[in-house]
Amino acid sequence: MIRRIDLRSATTGRPAGEPFDYRTVLPRADFDVEAAVPATHAICEEVRTRGLEALYEYSARFDGVQQTDIRVPAEAINSALAQLDPEIRAGLEESIRRLRVAGEAELEHDVVTDLGPGARVTHRKVPVGRVGLYVPGGLAPLVSTVLMNVVPAQVAGVPSLALASPPQAEFGGLPHPTILAACALLGVDEVYAVGGAQAIAMFAYGTGPCARVDLVTGPGNIWVVTAKRILKGLVGIDSEAGPTEVAILADDSADAAYVAADLVAEAEHDPLAAAVLITDSLTLADDVEAQLDKQVPSTGHEARVREALGGNQSGIVLVDDLDQGVAVSDAYASEHLEIHTRDAAAVAARITNAGAIFVGAHAPTALGDYCAGSNHVLPTGGCACHSSGLSVRAFTKSIHVVDYSRQGLEAVADHVITLAEAEDLPGHGDSVRVRFQS
Ligand code: NAD
Repeated sequence: MIRRIDLRSATTGRPAGEPFDYRTVLPRADFDVEAAVPATHAICEEVRTRGLEALYEYSARFDGVQQTDIRVPAEAINSALAQLDPEIRAGLEESIRRLRVAGEAELEHDVVTDLGPGARVTHRKVPVGRVGLYVPGGLAPLVSTVLMNVVPAQVAGVPSLALASPPQAEFGGLPHPTILAACALLGVDEVYAVGGAQAIAMFAYGTGPCARVDLVTGPGNIWVVTAKRILKGLVGIDSEAGPTEVAILADDSADAAYVAADLVAEAEHDPLAAAVLITDSLTLADDVEAQLDKQVPSTGHEARVREALGGNQSGIVLVDDLDQGVAVSDAYASEHLEIHTRDAAAVAARITNAGAIFVGAHAPTALGDYCAGSNHVLPTGGCACHSSGLSVRAFTKSIHVVDYSRQGLEAVADHVITLAEAEDLPGHGDSVRVRFQS
């Protein structure tokens, strides 16, 4: 059901500890953004040049929905909340509460630095002005993604929020009602029934009733991720958050039933989802495989889980020891990383590349998907080596405010003039000199 990749030195012949680029041998989803660029570029161009008509055509072609409007009416948003199951509402409210508490603690404040008399620089934090939030709706109605996008944006103080999610034929061309209910719960009233690359293009260009945004956030499939890459620059983006992935770093102290359950849970998201176990214990590897044989036949989305576990993107990676395990894990740079080892916190502290780290046997990835207080919109495909998950910080930007008096400038004027002349920019030097000529 799941392949093995043996990186132990006895198998590879490479001495333990010898530097090696593990990215060349680790599993990864067949998720070729470059190959999707031409088709996605065509969609973005259609939206840019033909506006609403193009959005209607894509909703008909990809979502099977005929539209005459893309803006979800306020009544539909409010009535979705009125009809929401009280237990789902309670779960959403607890998730919102935890995200808010953690988000408020993360909120960054202005940093004021005095560099001498009359010389002050302030690093001022300001929220992004208008943000477009994408909530996937193809394979699953990801209501939790509404919270993960909206709450940090609200905590950051973003004044204008628009949200888009694919129209669903079975719900009269509107996004899934639980998604709408979550919008109502959070006070988000600007919601568009638009999915895929065309939603990202709508946000970036400003289309029909949707004014252009400054920043687009949220996960999605290949077309969503590719559109974000194409339109980056015209709009800001968070990270490239594509098909989800978990790596589990485990030793012989791990509970094979827990590890297998977490691999199955991840595989349930998407046939392209990646479930990777990295272990130095052959016994654990065998036990996890036995547990997968036991658990998969009774899981809710068995076919999808089998496809994901059996795909090239998943596997059990055998390593010599935890040192190699940490190196392999950092090379993989997983969206989610679970640590099931002795002294898991110490192992977690050694990790430098991961979207989010889940420490110990009682922090499954599913906790982070919903209710940990952490964010579940996280970089995938190895992007965790340079990008971070969504957070309050993603919705703020900073401005350096330079506040110098005549005295402050005079103290550094000679250096500015010297450096300007070294760069052959004499006008720069003159712009300082003129202030001290009587
Ligand atoms: P989606 O909303 O991203 O995509 C559905 C849309 O794709 C449709 O509305 C349609 O417009 C478009 N589409 C469908 N077929 C198309 C085609 N042939 N050409 C062009 N456009 C087409 O929903 P999804 O498909 O369920 O994907 C969600 C993804 O988000 C999954 O891969 C999931 O793993 C991932 N995800 C990632 C994170 C993260 O943080 N990394 C979090 C949640 C979900």
